[in-house]
Amino acid sequence: MTPLEQKLRERILRDGPIPVADYMAMALGDPDHGYYRHRDPLGGGGDFITAPEVSQVFGELIGLWCAVVWRQMGAPPRFRLVELGPGRGTLMADALRAARTVPDFLAAADIHLVETSEALRARQREALSGTDPAWQDTFDSVPEGPAIVVANEFFDALPVEQYVRSDTGWRLRCVGIDDASGALRFVEGEGKPENAGLPPTAAVGAIFERNPASMALARDIGARLAQSGGAALFIDYGHAESGIGETLQAVAHHRFHDTLAAPGEADLTAHVDFAALRTAAVEGGARAHGPIGQGTFLGRLGVETRTQALAGTASSNEADMLRSGCRRLVDPDQMGALFKALALTHADLPPPPGFEETAGDARCA
Ligand code: SAH
Repeated sequence: MTPLEQKLRERILRDGPIPVADYMAMALGDPDHGYYRHRDPLGGGGDFITAPEVSQVFGELIGLWCAVVWRQMGAPPRFRLVELGPGRGTLMADALRAARTVPDFLAAADIHLVETSEALRARQREALSGTDPAWQDTFDSVPEGPAIVVANEFFDALPVEQYVRSDTGWRLRCVGIDDASGALRFVEGEGKPENAGLPPTAAVGAIFERNPASMALARDIGARLAQSGGAALFIDYGHAESGIGETLQAVAHHRFHDTLAAPGEADLTAHVDFAALRTAAVEGGARAHGPIGQGTFLGRLGVETRTQALAGTASSNEADMLRSGCRRLVDPDQMGALFKALALTHADLPPPPGFEETAGDARCA
């Protein structure tokens, strides 16, 4: 039994079953035993790999995207360059390196990293040595002013609520303890939840997810952009339309696990509901663009050209890695379609790079 499971059991025995969102929040963020608190889960030796770790081109293209957006904003002399959940700091390091071609942009950027993990803050400090980022616990604490906000695989880690359909309506889905085996198991919560926002009809046993933490954050970011100017780019895996179905999953050592088996030892994520995220950001006052598939987005930004240019001067082994990395990011059977990009802007800005309605599509060879 993991130390966190012990803590969860004590809480369940004391207070009754725990809502799935609280379970997920504790599994990832418990100050003592949460998954993200004390480890670096990324990369081949860790639990999962993300786009910036697959290819340097990912972060480079996002850096240039930010520089173009900054020009579209009228090149403010000072702005907040914010990344939510920067992992190892790879995306930001690659972005800043690529943006050296736009020195005014770099000079104007005041970098803020929103990160709760001490272990990953240390990795970010190493990756970004030579720059002077500030760390924040939440987006709220990023100082006022125009902002460009980037988040890759961040929203999938925010706690998802689950509802299960019973024959008398929706019930909050919770984690309790099985009387017979003593193991953690999913149970229906007591009482009826507010029906607002829950689908009116569904088969008995159906599961519906929603993510109030993501919605609140998207609304705040939308309001911030509307008030102070700027843009945001969210890339994550998920669906373009809201719908019924369970997507919460646990991954450890690059394999799927039972979501209740080892709390604190496995990564827990849920598909991002891009339709809901978009709606929340628009409610906040921003204009939304997309979502579009990650493959389409990176293709439009020139992932192929940049990959070939790098491969042309690399060893044959490195060139193979660059080309296979590009395919992995763009191929619809790999990360190209399941992963999506959503952009938000102040209403006065034009569509940002990659989101223009007339943009053509390109493919990785
Ligand atoms: N963006 C990185 C890392 C993705 S993993 C990449 O693409 O490689 C998720 C990241 O979000 C980690 O850095 C994790 O520590 C951070 N994180 C998770 N929940 C968070 C929260 N509630 N607040 C701030 N950071 C969080």
